[in-house]
Amino acid sequence: MATQQTDQLTFQNPVTRYESISPPVQDQPEPGLDQDLTPQADRGEHSYRGTGRLTGRKALITGADSGIGAAVAIAFAREGADVALSYLPEEEVDALEIKEFIESSARRGVLIPGDLTDREFCTTVVEQAMAELGGLDILVNNAGRQIAVEELGDLTDEQWTTTFETNIHAIYRVCKAAVPYLQPGSTIINTTSIQAYKPSPTLLDYAATKAAINNFSKGLSQQLAPKGIRVNAVAPGPVWTVLQVSDGQPKEKLPEFGKNTPLGRAGQPTEVAPAFVFLASPESSFVIGETLNVNGGQPSP
Ligand code: NAD
Ligand code: MG
Repeated sequence: MATQQTDQLTFQNPVTRYESISPPVQDQPEPGLDQDLTPQADRGEHSYRGTGRLTGRKALITGADSGIGAAVAIAFAREGADVALSYLPEEEVDALEIKEFIESSARRGVLIPGDLTDREFCTTVVEQAMAELGGLDILVNNAGRQIAVEELGDLTDEQWTTTFETNIHAIYRVCKAAVPYLQPGSTIINTTSIQAYKPSPTLLDYAATKAAINNFSKGLSQQLAPKGIRVNAVAPGPVWTVLQVSDGQPKEKLPEFGKNTPLGRAGQPTEVAPAFVFLASPESSFVIGETLNVNGGQPSP
């Protein structure tokens, strides 16, 4: 773990910035809680240092209670943004902790629990964020579900449909609800995955949604660029989060999680956050329809 003396801008060796963890075999019911993850993940709570890059911005982040979304929420707040957090009601305890980190950065944290597989919630989450933040400049579609299944014959129709509802149908619906409110200069960032190009044999439904997210992001980015709204995506590789222990991986694979990257280790959620900060801030004004790969060095198209 990073110590309190270092932050993401400290000159350091990426191989040893974090230890190569060998997580014990463990299981949590979906969606799982960061609070019960072993070892704990680093969401930047003690290390991310803001430099004013999102001062005064208003952001809605889905799946902001834990993992990558929580790291992005903490980073955005430290960069000066107010943040609305979308998450499932059963994740309230994780969400409350992230809200506290946001408020300790003197920014507003707004809690919006709800299920994104409910198409009405995809609209109300945007309207609530608008109402409570008093505007919206940044939309991060990061919520996702990942359940590993070994055999096609065991992949149920219900799982296939729910994965698509959560991972891609919700992005279409939330974008559709948000775009009418977005002013020129606003940004949308969607979380995809290396699975979009390198599908695991156990993640057929999940990987297919991630390829769809990349494609949707590139298409929508061209539609919205003339209006001054930029759309991009971030594609993480193996990042240590609760997604992996709530059936995202076959359990016996957890001790090896992320060891196959050129860095020889899994990433920590806070290592993904700067990609979102870059894409959200005006410094990336000429970056549109891009997928930023944050994966520890695995070649990607
Ligand atoms: P995570 O479990 O911490 O975050 C996923 C979040 O999605 C949950 O916290 C939950 O709030 C939200 N969610 C799931 N179903 C939902 C629903 N029906 N309604 C509302 N919210 C719902 O795990 P994470 O790894 O931080 O995942 C964040 C994103 O990163 C996901 O899109 C995931 O696919 C992607 N990703 C993760 C990895 C990795 O290795 N961890 C790699 C590539 C991509
Ligand atoms: Mg969570």
